[in-house]
Amino acid sequence: MSDQVLKFLMADGAVRIEAVSLTSTWQELNRHRSLPPAVNAMLGELVAASTLLAATLKFNGSLVLQIQGDGPVRLAVVECAAGFGVRAAIKLSPEAAVPEHASFRDLVNASGQGRFVIVLDPKDKLPGQQAYTGIVPLVGNTLAESLDYYFASSEQLPTLVHLAANETCAAGLLVQRMPAEGGKEVTDIDAWDRARHLAATIKREELLGLPAQEVVRRLFWEEPLAVKAEQPVRFSCTCSREKVAGVLRMLGAAEIESILAEQGKVSVNCEYCDTRYEFDAVDAALAVRGSPDAEPGGAVH
Ligand SMILES: [Zn+2]
Repeated sequence: MSDQVLKFLMADGAVRIEAVSLTSTWQELNRHRSLPPAVNAMLGELVAASTLLAATLKFNGSLVLQIQGDGPVRLAVVECAAGFGVRAAIKLSPEAAVPEHASFRDLVNASGQGRFVIVLDPKDKLPGQQAYTGIVPLVGNTLAESLDYYFASSEQLPTLVHLAANETCAAGLLVQRMPAEGGKEVTDIDAWDRARHLAATIKREELLGLPAQEVVRRLFWEEPLAVKAEQPVRFSCTCSREKVAGVLRMLGAAEIESILAEQGKVSVNCEYCDTRYEFDAVDAALAVRGSPDAEPGGAVH
């Protein structure tokens, strides 16, 4: 079965429930990396979180979770594009020694200087429209705690997130109290309490070992749930030779010539999928000059 993020509503819409379990997507996304186990688990949790967060939004575009860490992890970026195509990039500190059981805090906020932002980048931006950026306070020891705090403080939505990841699986569960709509009476005021208590009983082994559907069934079997959506998730990188050419153009002729003089060619590896793009002297010159069908400017990504 393909990887999916599942969305349900409980108690006539009083509570939102989402679950995700990524196996093939997670393994493919991470195939070219060999990370210390604690870092690998952190990246997997970030990937699962990106799909859960994207699934809470009515939004056509990319959701990016970006952490600039002050510990062994210098940068972690996960992007969940419209249609749930996910990809991730990570950079470790060169002198990083990662203890096996390093916590999220140890990895990215060891001395309290870490930064965690959520960026929502609309697919078809109107002229002058900016991406939305929200700051996620790095509180507690886990990524899930930071996200709970973000939803409660920035979005005023009580939320409970559970995340887990290992070599083969990246999984998560999110329960969230929904705002009452347009003064509508909330008929089931205990629903949120029930939902968060049930969700709190989930075990790490269950999240990692069971399909998302089964996780939800086991926890909420006494609650009639309305199925809202089952959305397929896949690994997808949007890099291209044209985008890399755009980056070479931004570096400028002088810089490119010095790389050519030193190495005989320019090679660039995509930080997300590790695809290698090579430009010999002729290709590099064309790239710097900019061919009419190349994409203007922009980043590799
Ligand atoms: Zn790529």
